[in-house]
Amino acid sequence: MSQKNRRGSERVKTFLLRDAVCPFVKSLHGKCVECEAPMDNAKLVLQFRTGKGMEKHARTYCGENYKYCEIYRMVMDAKYED
Ligand code: SF4
Repeated sequence: MSQKNRRGSERVKTFLLRDAVCPFVKSLHGKCVECEAPMDNAKLVLQFRTGKGMEKHARTYCGENYKYCEIYRMVMDAKYED
């Protein structure tokens, strides 16, 4: 393996839509996470300052820890809990 490939394989993998576990995720792109909104006929777009910021949020919450996300809790409270 070349030096370049070795370094490349050590890089942190980009967090992609297929890595998201949250049931409310719609898409991840650029600086944005799009989620189900607390009302019908709308979607919620979280726009971060940077793509890195978006990725950090997605990696922290949109995977296994989605139940800790404030957006997830808001949508659950508004639409799915009595
Ligand atoms: S974890 Fe939060 S930000 Fe991520 S998709 Fe779910 S509701 Fe949206």
